[in-house]
Amino acid sequence: MKNHLSDRINSLPTSATLAMAAKARELKTQGIDIIGLSLGEPDFNTPDFIKEAAIQAINDNYNSYSPVDGYAELKDAIILKFKRDNNLDYKPSQIVVSTGAKQSIANVAQVLLNPGDEVLLPAPYWVSYSAIATLCEATFKEIPSTIENDFKITPQQLEEAITPKTKMVFFNSPNNPSGTIYSESEYRALAEVLEKYPDIFILSDEIYEHINYGAKNFSFAAIPSMYDRTITVNGVAKAFAMTGWRIGYIGAPEWIAKACTKMQGQITSGTNCIAQRATITALNESPERIQYMVDEFKVRRDLILDLLNEIEGFKTNVPEGAFYVFPNVSYYFGKTLRGKTINNATDFSLYLLEEAHVATVTGEAFGNADCIRISYAASQEQIVEALKRIKAALS
Ligand code: GLU
Repeated sequence: MKNHLSDRINSLPTSATLAMAAKARELKTQGIDIIGLSLGEPDFNTPDFIKEAAIQAINDNYNSYSPVDGYAELKDAIILKFKRDNNLDYKPSQIVVSTGAKQSIANVAQVLLNPGDEVLLPAPYWVSYSAIATLCEATFKEIPSTIENDFKITPQQLEEAITPKTKMVFFNSPNNPSGTIYSESEYRALAEVLEKYPDIFILSDEIYEHINYGAKNFSFAAIPSMYDRTITVNGVAKAFAMTGWRIGYIGAPEWIAKACTKMQGQITSGTNCIAQRATITALNESPERIQYMVDEFKVRRDLILDLLNEIEGFKTNVPEGAFYVFPNVSYYFGKTLRGKTINNATDFSLYLLEEAHVATVTGEAFGNADCIRISYAASQEQIVEALKRIKAALS
């Protein structure tokens, strides 16, 4: 049949994280015992105090459209959260609530990028950044990093990557997939470069802010010279185990927030009203309430690093946040295992799926073709079993 689909969708890659999760789910329904370490999704239940707020919202008949940019009380809770956790001051007119941080990012890209504009992506980066830029007919340029440098880019690299077409830079700390966290001084050094280029905007994706095993998260917009051109993205999915509730939000210059509201008004309208009400309760609570999940993620991180170290050919940094490890597996490239030649990270990830029945994601999707991403948002038992299988499949 003739391909009637638009060039836009034809040129869009499928989300590698979601595709791998779907593949793992499909194999499971066929009765294959797959351990899913592909998706970045806490395996905890949403805390009861948040569930109760949602039930209350249903009983209070929150069933109509909300304001497109979010309930006023939710914006107040977000403003409080930004002040409390990030030392950022926003007014209600600077906040937009969306259907997941993914929509927040897509909104921002849609309202700022013109065809031909360039987006800088410090690599490795989350799979959807490049796809979202492509949807806007913008180009993207990867700024590479290495494990030796803890997957961080340097100010010099940033400066060298900038061209007259550069419109945006996407920062993500704690980083998906490397778990890297930029310190305040590292962010300030990058900001010094950007100070010379007033027409470049910064998207700071802080969705993993609370899954942080080291120093407190530092927000890029907290640098005064960056505040007027930084869009801070956050949401409740990761910290509160609320991935399916789909609530993301931005704090941004008012004119950008207004444009995002206009965009969203034509695409999705306001976000799910029950989830918004529950989010008010989540954000008004102290982050201490969710520390038990962070503590458990740290135990799992240490566990998976220990187990990976026992397997030949995995080279990793020590992730300081999020719930991923991103080992370099290039040691295996060119080798033949059980009759299968491993040429790249995609082959390797597929090999682990087929031979160890463990789902991971190829680093190619994250802009680093030497690595694979392993999510440790799974139980300790699953992690131990998965790594046992991987070790056996590689020995
Ligand atoms: N952000 C998560 C991940 O990287 C969820 C899936 C997605 O939206 O990509 O696994």
